Amino acid sequence: MKKALIFTCLIILVSTSFAQQTITSATLVDPSYFITHTREELVRKLVDLPCGIKADDPIKTIFQKIETYLINFNPEPEYSDDAFAKAANMQALKSVMEGGYGIGSVLVDQDGKIIAAGHNSQMQKNRSDLHAEMALMTKFENSPRSKKYMIHYVYKPGLTVFSSAEPCPMCFIRISTAGCDTKYCTPGPEDGMVTRVSCLPPSWREMASKQKVEIGDCSPIMQKLSHLLFYSYLLDNRGPY
Ligand SMILES: [Zn+2]
Repeated sequence: MKKALIFTCLIILVSTSFAQQTITSATLVDPSYFITHTREELVRKLVDLPCGIKADDPIKTIFQKIETYLINFNPEPEYSDDAFAKAANMQALKSVMEGGYGIGSVLVDQDGKIIAAGHNSQMQKNRSDLHAEMALMTKFENSPRSKKYMIHYVYKPGLTVFSSAEPCPMCFIRISTAGCDTKYCTPGPEDGMVTRVSCLPPSWREMASKQKVEIGDCSPIMQKLSHLLFYSYLLDNRGPY
């Protein structure tokens, strides 16, 4: 009886400590969509988008058609994070059009206002650290206006890093260390850290548990675009991998 009581208490404790951290991966798009390994799969998914892309379009034309679609896209009101998803995808597209990897991020304040934006710049700047979230936070923290949102190097509660793709281990730890909440548009079944937070060392896991971490409430088309912009490197095998 005593053992059963202790076990019940432990379960309640564990449930409570993780309750603060809402980690969900629910999406209206079939989860298998978010795995793309070949150029052929990528092109087929790009052609299926409502952007008018044809299989034999040159790469530049594909990106221009996505740009036209995104500029004219009205965030869907039933999805509360669609405006952030559009902004993050615009950043991802910016990187892709520069010859970089297609991931973008925006920093959102407690009133839902976008206060900074950034995109992956690894190839553009020959920097191993400039993933989208890292580029966003480094740029923002180097600006004097960031100080009103921070105490030392930690942000006051209420700021969210909204990324077009599920943050990788490096970026997730950076966001946690800064004390920001994490949201993202498309899940990263093969590279995302958010859904693997239980694999972190205990101290880092505890730090991560202090902020909200969740997939954004985004429309299926924004989720698909986020994924395809990321994997657009398969079009021309850009990058070292
Ligand atoms: Zn990253």
